[in-house]
Amino acid sequence: MSRYLGSVCKLCRREKEKLFLKGERCSANCALDKKRGKNAPGQHGAARVKISDYAKHLREKQKARRVYGLTEEQFVHYYKTAEKMKGSTGDNLLKILELRLDNVVYRLGLASSKKMARQVINHGNILVNGKKIDLPRYQVKAGDIIAVPEKYKANAVIKKLVEGSTSNVPVWLNFDKNKIEGTIVSEPLAGEASHPINSQLIVEYYSK
Ligand code: SF4
Repeated sequence: MSRYLGSVCKLCRREKEKLFLKGERCSANCALDKKRGKNAPGQHGAARVKISDYAKHLREKQKARRVYGLTEEQFVHYYKTAEKMKGSTGDNLLKILELRLDNVVYRLGLASSKKMARQVINHGNILVNGKKIDLPRYQVKAGDIIAVPEKYKANAVIKKLVEGSTSNVPVWLNFDKNKIEGTIVSEPLAGEASHPINSQLIVEYYSK
């Protein structure tokens, strides 16, 4: 299945909550903050429908997939990896997703959305332990240092982002504003994901 190329606001309306897919605009001018925008897309979006158990599980899986910008195939791959790991599959899944390089770049405040984080990485503007990594799916680990090349530090966009960063950096990351450098302090715990996701519902969805 290919990557979704339509309106991302439609995805938030489908999940009936803000998924913060558009960066700064999500805080400043979001249709979901207005009553009309809260309806699901389509002719019957405003209709009250009793949601089945299956739909509840499916929606949680879709929400997680959209929050992290993944195709179904990529998501299933992560789920299978999480299943093979020791411990809770749901917690493992969220940990793997949080430790994707694009997510970490976003959570450090070096990009205003995960989509922008992927672009920054694809353009070769992110270093992990001093080495250029241009794969958004790259898995970082505790102790890794995320930085930007010298030439990118002068970029007006990155300067603006860094000015507003640090306030939302989670406890498992550390960000040095002066060096424009982040450190993975520890692996994220359950409940420290970038978006509230009930991973148990996702496990139940794939276990049926
Ligand atoms: Fe659009 Fe962002 Fe609002 Fe979602 S949170 S509806 S992406 S503006």
